[in-house]
Amino acid sequence: MQNATQLKELIHRIDGKGYKAYKHLELPFIFNGFVLFIDHVQGDPYAAPSALRARIRLSDTSISPRALENETRKLAAEDFLTRLFLFNSGKICKGIRGTGTSGLISIQKPGQEILKRSSVVLNDEYLEFRCYASLPARGRTILGSVAESMFLSELTDIVQLSSNFDSSIQNRLTLHADIYEDYCSLRDTLSRHDLVAFIPDGAILPRKSGIDAQPLNNSDGPVVPFRSPESLEITLQTPNKGPVCGMGIPKGVTVIAGGGFHGKSTLLNAIQIGIYGHLPLDGRELTATVPDAVKIRAEDGRSIQNVNISPFIRNLPFGKDTTAFSTVNASGSTSQAANIMEAIETGTTLLLIDEDTSATNFMIRDDKMKAIVRKEPITPLIDVIRSLYRDQGISSIIVTGGAGDYFSVADTVILMEDYLPEEITSKARTEIRDVENTFTVNPESLKRRVKLPSPRKGNKENFAAKGQHTLQIGRTFVDISALEQVAEVYQTECIAFLLKQYNDAMASGSTPMASVVERIFQRFTSSGFRNIKRGNLAVPRKQEVMFAINRARGIQSWGTGK
Ligand code: ADP
Ligand code: MG
Repeated sequence: MQNATQLKELIHRIDGKGYKAYKHLELPFIFNGFVLFIDHVQGDPYAAPSALRARIRLSDTSISPRALENETRKLAAEDFLTRLFLFNSGKICKGIRGTGTSGLISIQKPGQEILKRSSVVLNDEYLEFRCYASLPARGRTILGSVAESMFLSELTDIVQLSSNFDSSIQNRLTLHADIYEDYCSLRDTLSRHDLVAFIPDGAILPRKSGIDAQPLNNSDGPVVPFRSPESLEITLQTPNKGPVCGMGIPKGVTVIAGGGFHGKSTLLNAIQIGIYGHLPLDGRELTATVPDAVKIRAEDGRSIQNVNISPFIRNLPFGKDTTAFSTVNASGSTSQAANIMEAIETGTTLLLIDEDTSATNFMIRDDKMKAIVRKEPITPLIDVIRSLYRDQGISSIIVTGGAGDYFSVADTVILMEDYLPEEITSKARTEIRDVENTFTVNPESLKRRVKLPSPRKGNKENFAAKGQHTLQIGRTFVDISALEQVAEVYQTECIAFLLKQYNDAMASGSTPMASVVERIFQRFTSSGFRNIKRGNLAVPRKQEVMFAINRARGIQSWGTGK
């Protein structure tokens, strides 16, 4: 291993040379209390920045043993340390100096969710930051003095400050882990209480804006903290905060009604992202939802390959088969039907549906329409939502402002008024509609085998994220913008990474997609990020991986057992 003097000498030697000479830095160095691995050197100052890892012995950090007490606290600590490194690099790095992004030192930029991230690896031996540096140049000429400052002064200080900190940061780390641990315990206790979601009293659900996930605060206007209606109130125990009181949403069919602009969608959005923990002071940090919950929406234009949508749609014109339905351009209703069937294929136990983003003809059909329209291929959701729970054990939470018919199929009706919930089940539901239909799913149709489109691009394989909402497989772009539960671009990066594993594992073609994804997930989550030397990944759910596969145009799929 090279030391600081050798690194300095190396930089002097390549100073003023062409950019390619930076390749000489692809070595491990040891200096100022940490080991620096330069895993990848970028090709030019405009390319994605160079990948570094800075590793410090755990005994040389101020991380307390408590942070490694269990996997939950460790995950929270890794998330916290990513944010700390990001903060310190903002303070210490001198910014862009030269062509392109020359001079920047960066790391994942997390949002409000606490996620399993590859940017920090913490274990019994060491703490490792996986960060990025844009190696500096003017044009293609290496700026040695800037590089020297970046490595030997700025990066060194950032790593120091992010691994050796005072008690105030120590306390924040503890709080971060405490809250995350409490969130996980709430989430994991839901099903024991026959609940699908929990929103604590005092939670702040609204966000600053549609593009800013920070909590709305009183300087933006009056904010109404959440308060459970008495009848849905439950107190749950948490390991750190102790008892937490709030609203439990029971299993079954729940309808959230209310006038426009009274906070219905805000509540549903908090529930759908309650599959993940949130930062202290986020407002939703103890809002918890069963981890397999899936937001369902209409998504016209998407491609569908070989999905059995017959529980919802039958007898299409010209006898088009709906037990193995394919289209390159789905309608609102067929897309929503496929989204539900694919969610069932992932093993979901909770569907989340907002009228705002649904196809009306998929949701309801009123009596006048029934009388006039004789050939209607669609069985609207309202006709099967109860049997979906009775026969398949799949609960649903439906937000509606217009479709009062849903009251008669609900187990629980919640009215949102002035941003506060009220339980009005007995008032709203004058009758409960008996379940006429059974909701049967041919088990074979949940075992589709799916092969990805060709990953080849030129003579290389290509699996990549293009921002948060697009994936690329070979030459095929996959639009995943409808997947509202993908929280960050780093999850999209990780989906791309897992698609490569999927493609390799799928080669034989005989195993169902769900099992292949399950298997790669098990392998992936049990081995952690220690041996995956990339800093830009955050773990998604297996649901989103399968949903991404389903959206790729040009997948081949077989086996639905008509
Ligand atoms: P709906 O779906 O019922 O039409 P939304 O959930 O979209 O209503 O909320 C309407 C507006 O009210 C949004 O701008 C939202 O940020 C705001 N809002 C929601 N809940 C609260 C709350 N508890 N306190 C203050 N403002 C809120
Ligand atoms: Mg709404």
